[in-house]
Amino acid sequence: MKHLKIHNRFTTELPADPNETNETRQVLNTLFSYVKPTTPSDPKLIHASKEVAELVGISADEIKSEEFVNVFSGKEILPETKPYAMCYAGHQFGNWAGQLGDGRAINLTEVEHNNQYFTLQLKGAGKTPYSRTADGLAVLRSSIREYLCAEAMYYLGVPTTRSLSLILSGDQVLRDILYNGNPAYEKGAIVCRVAPSFIRFGSFEMLTARNELKNLKQFVEYNIKHYFPEIKGEPKEKYLQFFKTVADKTREMILHWQRVGFVHGVMNTDNMSVHGITIDYGPYGWLENYDPNWTPNTTDSQNRRYRFGNQPQVAQWNLFQLANSLYPLINEAEPLEKILESFITDFNSDYTKMILSKLGLCTSAENDAEFITYLESNLQLSETDMTIFYRNLNKIRKSDSAEKALQAIEDAFYKPEEIKDTIKDNWLLWFTDYLERLNQENTSDEERIKLQNSVNPKYVLRNYMAQLAIDAADKEDYSLVIELYELLKKPYDEQPESEKWFAKRPDWARSKVGCSMLSCSS
Ligand code: AMP
Ligand code: MG
Repeated sequence: MKHLKIHNRFTTELPADPNETNETRQVLNTLFSYVKPTTPSDPKLIHASKEVAELVGISADEIKSEEFVNVFSGKEILPETKPYAMCYAGHQFGNWAGQLGDGRAINLTEVEHNNQYFTLQLKGAGKTPYSRTADGLAVLRSSIREYLCAEAMYYLGVPTTRSLSLILSGDQVLRDILYNGNPAYEKGAIVCRVAPSFIRFGSFEMLTARNELKNLKQFVEYNIKHYFPEIKGEPKEKYLQFFKTVADKTREMILHWQRVGFVHGVMNTDNMSVHGITIDYGPYGWLENYDPNWTPNTTDSQNRRYRFGNQPQVAQWNLFQLANSLYPLINEAEPLEKILESFITDFNSDYTKMILSKLGLCTSAENDAEFITYLESNLQLSETDMTIFYRNLNKIRKSDSAEKALQAIEDAFYKPEEIKDTIKDNWLLWFTDYLERLNQENTSDEERIKLQNSVNPKYVLRNYMAQLAIDAADKEDYSLVIELYELLKKPYDEQPESEKWFAKRPDWARSKVGCSMLSCSS
């Protein structure tokens, strides 16, 4: 891969940690530490994305080479590169956590291809100065989840990091999945992920918390220069514009999460990308029955801070932390506060439009908010699968009766026997309104359905699907990883041969670890 166009902008333009020993420590006055990946004992490629490889300038043939496995498992370092771990801090579950940093992520380098820049990062390639008491490794289970989900999100149209490769390390990793004193060995794995950069809100928070204001200014300038070059003007104006841009991008990302039913699970500020892309796939999950209070993360089951319905508010809270860390460069609270306030009002109006598009409605009405609230309360009367409900709206025709429309979506009900009496009446009332709205639209059924099918996915990575792929992979059968990867490349298409994945979560998965309950142990 000698032809790769290597860049090291982050490490050449920003202050490095002069200490190159790989020891856990507080690292001051710097943004990163040089660190070499740990050599894996027997790396084996499970899967690589041809599309992501091409994106960064690697050919399909090169994927098959020994060099590819060696480079993306950390066994071999590309010439002209010097891997590094980033130093950042963050708020975890609402509390200031101080220095965190890349504890098990190692950035290999940046590459340029077709005038685009990408950072290539290994996750699970061994300890760094930021590993604290942990081992710097990742298990196959969580690596499959990250690998598949990032690509599924990309094809759903959700801003995200990408996955280049999934490689077994050949080493065993000890994990206590449920944190209940039952640790067991699992297979280790390494994912190479790709993004414009892996800079987080917590990267800025760290500099301000330590009062490293010169570095803060340099770092914000670095971000603007390379990632937001359209931002120009006086320094203060530029920094405000920077904050506004990050807020806008974050808002768009959350809107997509709410559209497809994705729950991140750990929206700590160290897991929020400055690019507004979904990053750090841990105990994430997909809503099956529509429940705004649901979170897949067992670590958060008490407070449910990161529940589905709270994601916009948490994003705003996280942006508030970013605003605080930019404040020393701006010294004026009001314009920052204004941006934060408009985050929620803008989100709410975008949300209404987004749900209307899921319903296939192009024209807004005065009672939109009420109409949507009514729908969302109905969706919670009896367990109703979010994905199936929205997708099956494409079976409804304008000329249908409310009763017929309700029948069109009945596959979405987990307990169809509950759809009677008041629950049924509520649905019939809502469908009566809905059909009236459809009949007021100028679009034909066909046109509407086309729009709906482009925003209501047919296939998402349901938690139990990922778990089935994990269980098989544990027995060295990777066919399901490949099958799901291919399926999720076309989430909006009808794929008749894969109809079995357009189904409600099976009963056995209701309370199985990995399906409805996940921990941060990864
Ligand atoms: P996360 O919740 O996965 O985003 O991780 C929070 C922090 O813990 C980050 O600084 C991670 O790098 C670090 N971390 C998580 N797992 C490990 C691990 N196995 N070894 C070292 N650091 C880790
Ligand atoms: Mg993280």
